[in-house]
Amino acid sequence: MSDNRQLIRDLLAEYWGYDSFRPMQEEIILSVLDGNDTLGILPTGGGKSVTFQIPALVMPDLTVVVTPLISLMKDQVDNLRAIGIKATYIHSGLTRSEHRLAFDRCRLGKVKLLYVSPEKLQSKAFVDEMKLFKVSLIVVDEAHCISQWGYDFRPSYLRLRDLRGVFKSAPVLALTASATPEVADDIMAQLAFRGRQMFTRSFARDNISYLARYGDDKFNTLLKILNNTSGTAIVYVRSRRRTREIADFLVKSGISADYYHAGLAIEDKNEKQDRWKSGECRVIVATNAFGMGIDKPDVRVVVHFDLPASLEEYYQEAGRAGRDGLPSYAVILASQYDKARLSRHITESFPDKEYIRKVYDLACTFLDVIEGEGYGKVYEFNFNLFCERFELRPVAARSALELLTRAGAFEFTEEIQTQARLMVLAKKQDLYDLRINEDADRVLQLVLRTYTGLFADYVYINEVLISSRLQMSSQRVYESLLLLSKMHIIHYVPRKSTPYVYFNVSRMAPKHVMIPREIYEVQRERLERRVEAMKRFAFADDRCRVRIMLEYFGEKAAADCGSCDYCRAEKKRKSPAVTDDSLLRQSILYMLRQPRTLDYLVTTSGERRERIIEIVRQLLDENLIKSLSPSEFVKA
Ligand code: ADP
Repeated sequence: MSDNRQLIRDLLAEYWGYDSFRPMQEEIILSVLDGNDTLGILPTGGGKSVTFQIPALVMPDLTVVVTPLISLMKDQVDNLRAIGIKATYIHSGLTRSEHRLAFDRCRLGKVKLLYVSPEKLQSKAFVDEMKLFKVSLIVVDEAHCISQWGYDFRPSYLRLRDLRGVFKSAPVLALTASATPEVADDIMAQLAFRGRQMFTRSFARDNISYLARYGDDKFNTLLKILNNTSGTAIVYVRSRRRTREIADFLVKSGISADYYHAGLAIEDKNEKQDRWKSGECRVIVATNAFGMGIDKPDVRVVVHFDLPASLEEYYQEAGRAGRDGLPSYAVILASQYDKARLSRHITESFPDKEYIRKVYDLACTFLDVIEGEGYGKVYEFNFNLFCERFELRPVAARSALELLTRAGAFEFTEEIQTQARLMVLAKKQDLYDLRINEDADRVLQLVLRTYTGLFADYVYINEVLISSRLQMSSQRVYESLLLLSKMHIIHYVPRKSTPYVYFNVSRMAPKHVMIPREIYEVQRERLERRVEAMKRFAFADDRCRVRIMLEYFGEKAAADCGSCDYCRAEKKRKSPAVTDDSLLRQSILYMLRQPRTLDYLVTTSGERRERIIEIVRQLLDENLIKSLSPSEFVKA
């Protein structure tokens, strides 16, 4: 055991350059290396990846990581490759030859980690093929997806048991950022855990103040909040259209802002993300598509313009504030309208069963799949066109498709959004005397100069970059790549962002589509309970917000947080208007006639740091002072 302790510390330093583990990382890793089935519950940003990447290095054979976040697989694999760890991934968006290449690498033991999307496990043939692998460890990322009691159940996760059956001796490491006690139990049961090794960190985040502001004029409240704080911010909204509207409003009001949602092209997304990460853009207004896998430590404010449908989602999103441990805010803007919207969310998430069956039938017709056919096939599914053609309301149609997925009728996925990629098929020496047109030649030369590894594997390319470097329209770049591909000089896979449907059973008559109670009635009731908890948290006026949240996650708070708006109001109520604070307040206000740092205030006043922070917070809330940076303030 102690040998492992030293070994894993060395690996952390050698590959990642970190000198110590974050809370619970070491415990999880040691448990896995001891061969235990292990459940790790770490908050977003808590460093889950290292807890399986280090065991993957230590253990002799392959580590299989099941993760639904297809769009993050590539990033993870790229990051690993960059630090010298061999990894690859397989999901349904790959071409046949990409798939084969990745598969062979795993079979031949050429990689340490394989990321695989859960829907691949639906195919028995694939799982059977995997028997050719030697597997040391199975990792289940976003493990709450296996539980029907959680907020994001995915039926394909149930197939993980099959994987366990194939690799009997390999331990399982299940990871998630949020799980209520009942979901944690369910994860261990569903994955047939041997023993109950569970490691969890407190859900409390002491440096975040949770606040709520009520009222209908959310635009101006938001503006006020952003004007009174400094530093990077995220504003979460539920609708794509609104992201842009709010960002425009902020820009007009003099705040640097941009918008982000899942419907944007990959290049746009990357650019917006980068500008926000580098601090060039201060506020990003986004749907919940923003944030996964993004690691920015100094987010000062997370505002929820709309309420999410569960505390799990809220906790993850709000938790993107203050990862650096400095004071930060998570603010909910709530109005009575939100309550109504959340209730509507419940009915929209569960349209009636007849409607669901109708959507099934229409979808099959749309894809030209006739009854008794389709088994094992993947079809691109143009969701917008589908809704248009059959005049369906997108929200309800999407819910129906998701329920059909849960019921196992087929699998509908919107997540796949692949970037263009290519691999060179011709031999290096043959590239010199090719007879191709000038456009194609220029594109090829640029690609060869810009990217490495093209002869061994598919490499992601950025067509926007190519077209701007060559001053060539993107249509001409695209056509040139297609031409090169037709000539078998390269294999080019154009960018795609179409959702797809995978048939795990052949098309059936609508009346045979079973929508079991566990998927419908029971789930609906759970959603109702989750929504209730979210409302309780957002509209709480009689209890500490953090206490409500911790209890929801099965933790008992030792004391009230002291920094949420309820606690602040409570303090004010309890302490009479004139206290020692009033003197200290006056003197801080006096000092802040010019910008001062927190350290300056502490040193000059000779007071305890916590007390100064508390008063600074009060003054910020009352708009008497404003912050210039997380630790510098001035009179407003
Ligand atoms: P999660 O998946 O839990 O949200 P990640 O695994 O993406 O979190 O890790 C978040 C960030 O923390 C990454 O940038 C990672 O490199 C970093 N990190 C992980 N472990 C440590 C550590 N022990 N010390 C410092 N940084 C770490």
